[in-house]
Amino acid sequence: MRILLKPDVARSMGVVLLKPGSELLSMFRHGRVLIEPEPGSMAHLPSGRVPDARQPLSQDKSLEAFFTDERVIAAAGGLPGLEFWLEHNVHACQYQHSEYHHKELVTMRHPPGSMLLCWHCENQLREQTTRQLSELARRNVIDWVIDTVRIRLRYSKERELALAELCWWAVCAGIGDAITEEMAARSLLLPVEPFLSVYKESDIVPSVPATSILQREMALVKPIDMPPAEEPPKVLTLAADPESPESFMLRPKRRRWVCKPYTDWVKTQPCSGCQRPADDPHHIIGHGMGGTATKAHDLFVIPLCRECHDELHADVSVFEQKHGTQLELLFRFLDKALGIGVIVKA
Ligand SMILES: [Zn+2]
Ligand SMILES: [Zn+2]
Ligand SMILES: [Zn+2]
Repeated sequence: MRILLKPDVARSMGVVLLKPGSELLSMFRHGRVLIEPEPGSMAHLPSGRVPDARQPLSQDKSLEAFFTDERVIAAAGGLPGLEFWLEHNVHACQYQHSEYHHKELVTMRHPPGSMLLCWHCENQLREQTTRQLSELARRNVIDWVIDTVRIRLRYSKERELALAELCWWAVCAGIGDAITEEMAARSLLLPVEPFLSVYKESDIVPSVPATSILQREMALVKPIDMPPAEEPPKVLTLAADPESPESFMLRPKRRRWVCKPYTDWVKTQPCSGCQRPADDPHHIIGHGMGGTATKAHDLFVIPLCRECHDELHADVSVFEQKHGTQLELLFRFLDKALGIGVIVKA
């Protein structure tokens, strides 16, 4: 929240008195407050709370197709996200054409979005599709997308969103291809091509589409707002060899199974002791494992942070009493690695 204050200045004493009033007093209770000179753009505003910015992009007809694009709605959180936003930002029935409104509010879907209505109006309007309702639903989608983008870019409510920022969000959210040619051209500040009614053939020069310029840049940007990839990397593929040479030997020499990609992945998992980020893959010790010739196979590893790892090697029984035995932890960890497809069948 930003506030414009007109301080009473007691010049002779060099003392400035601020009268925040009850609405603004809480600001001063929440800690330090930044005081800065009034920007010229606020000169016309009265003292008191600075109103939230009006968003010029929301009034831009040429952006409607972008805002109501399915991909944009999905990237902003989908219709449930819109409805959550409506419930928290709209506080009265949105249907202006009724005399009576019930006090309970509900959301009602209508292409291309949704709206907040009172029980009475929702009852009257349910199943109807009208231009008026479409316009209301569209307005909600646009205001919600803009607010969502503003929040994702960590801007305050007073901040006017620029077209280039909207495009940047789309690229980061992985929906850069929803950016229209006109948006791309405007946000890249490309000159608007004059539209002539008659072209001479020599005038027709194919220009580079602005979206192709964006597309080139987009290839360099990894989407940040997308949910984490569902599929974990396949790290380890196992195959069984029932007829390995050693299996025919009476006293086969132990062949230690080594797999660096797997132990590297194990290190990236939370510590089996305390769940903080792990530092090391710990090879199980005890149970006949852990001597120089008997180091456990790379499959018998659990992720441990440096602290838990030191604790374990300092005193195995103290560690195991505290966190569970190594075999239990290993069993649980292998269950996870198999369960999420990091270890798969060849
Ligand atoms: Zn109503
Ligand atoms: Zn730990
Ligand atoms: Zn260890």
